[in-house]
Amino acid sequence: MSNVVEVDNLSHVYVNERGAFLALEHIRLNVRQGEFLSLIGPSGCGKTTLLSLISGLLTPSAGTVRVSGEEIKQPSSKVGYMLQQDYLFPWLTIYDNASIGLELMAKRNEASRKLVLELLEDMGLGDVADQYPHQLSGGMRQRVALVRTLAVEPDILLLDEPFSALDYQTKLQLEDLVSITLKSRGKTAILVTHDITEAIAMSDRIVVLQPHPGRILTTVEVPSAIREALPLKAREAGGFHDLFHRLWGYFEEMETKGGDNRG
Ligand code: ADP
Ligand code: MG
Repeated sequence: MSNVVEVDNLSHVYVNERGAFLALEHIRLNVRQGEFLSLIGPSGCGKTTLLSLISGLLTPSAGTVRVSGEEIKQPSSKVGYMLQQDYLFPWLTIYDNASIGLELMAKRNEASRKLVLELLEDMGLGDVADQYPHQLSGGMRQRVALVRTLAVEPDILLLDEPFSALDYQTKLQLEDLVSITLKSRGKTAILVTHDITEAIAMSDRIVVLQPHPGRILTTVEVPSAIREALPLKAREAGGFHDLFHRLWGYFEEMETKGGDNRG
């Protein structure tokens, strides 16, 4: 299958008044059409930096990012970016909030209107389209943010800890809903999460990043029994616990190494 995202030898240095800091080094990563990939790793290992580089919000110090074959040098409608915070506008209705990306790109038309309504319906928000953000729960607001991101039909969806501010039950429900929505529409996605179980339950493939500087430690294919189940059920699938312990082991290893370096 073709690659939607091609990250080639990407490095990034942050420069500020305290000096230069190498946040990411030699990142090589391809994401296939329709694939769901998770990025995990200790806090500060460069996950958000990598998403920002893929989205074109940051310009890499070295290397390239291509989306659908085209080099990304600035934010593009090919890339949809969804954050932990929903950033809905309080004075706009849910429908208008969901359409804001289309509005900004002057892409609002009959077809896009239909798509937004369809997405709202799919995400269980059909009845609240005329309401305002303050009338919705946190989980519903994140669903609106997802609709807004999907509405512009990006080639790749970047999700930076989109469930981490939600209570546990809402988060599990939303994982299933997001999984169904993305799979049924053949969407390609990269999820950043600090939750190992979420990464296993949702992904086709997991990339583990190590810090100082941020590099790919290893890449793990998720077994088909887990992939084929929805995220909630996947947690009971054969091989889930083995994979959890393997990934947990990488985190422990990194912590030990980090400790040695600091000591
Ligand atoms: P993660 O998302 O994995 O927690 P980040 O990508 O946010 O990590 O950050 C990676 C590293 O880069 C961290 O050590 C962080 O302190 C540093 N960093 C992030 N943003 C900046 C910035 N604007 N200037 C300087 N350093 C930064
Ligand atoms: Mg982050």
